Amino acid sequence: MSNVLVTGANRGLGLEFARQYAADGWRVFACCRNPESAQELAVLAGRHHNLSVHRLDVADHEDIDALAGELQDQAVDVLVNNAGTYGNRSAQQLGNIDYEDWSRTLRVNTLGPVRMLEAFLPHLERGERRVAATLTSLMGSIADNTSGGSYIYRTSKAALNAAMKSAAVDLEARGIGILLLHPGWVKTDMGGSSALITPEESIRALRQRIDEFDLSRTGRFINYDGREYPW
Ligand code: NDP
Repeated sequence: MSNVLVTGANRGLGLEFARQYAADGWRVFACCRNPESAQELAVLAGRHHNLSVHRLDVADHEDIDALAGELQDQAVDVLVNNAGTYGNRSAQQLGNIDYEDWSRTLRVNTLGPVRMLEAFLPHLERGERRVAATLTSLMGSIADNTSGGSYIYRTSKAALNAAMKSAAVDLEARGIGILLLHPGWVKTDMGGSSALITPEESIRALRQRIDEFDLSRTGRFINYDGREYPW
């Protein structure tokens, strides 16, 4: 049995990752900020004894260290850095940028996944698959940016990409692989109802990308369908 840890597992793509991995018999460490109000996760945990729910705010480094300690004897085959925020949508245009929100968003989207990776390196080294898969966004691609705006979200994902690229170089010799995954435009609270694909479709494809991963592909920025994206 393989083990997977998913951040932001109470709704959206994180919940779907937890649902599909649990149904396939993986041991799932499903993490969320407020387990008490995570009703859908509670239902999943009731249905699958291979899924446990853990409190984790990825912006809180003490939370991250506490969880790494709680799971210190466990292997993590696949770390899914999924938790993320768009930031304040009405304060991302020149002239009205909310700098406090920018700072908060960087802490969640950029520092959070890197801190998770650092804290869970020993767990990944104990695993067999040794993959850290991070949900990024095409909006973090500088080469693809033709529409401007979204300063807060774009920079948080571009910086995340840069950091994870370094991690890919630094960790290859230790046998740990890094994947940067764009999930598509997906119908979640973040993606909205006009989005093009469902969480079920996105996560089925992303799990395939994770399954077929080998170290020769470490550090790539790829779409859910496997296409590589420009930085
Ligand atoms: P949602 O807004 O639907 O869900 C976000 C999840 O992240 C929630 O579980 C939320 O928990 C959690 N989260 C937010 N902040 C924190 C935090 N500080 N600590 C722990 N958990 C936190 O987003 P999606 O499911 O759509 O997005 C998942 C990932 O995919 C994100 O990284 C996003 O940037 C990326 N993505 C999504 C796209 C889409 O079209 N949907 C497109 C491109 C990328 P809570 O309920 O407590 O707020």
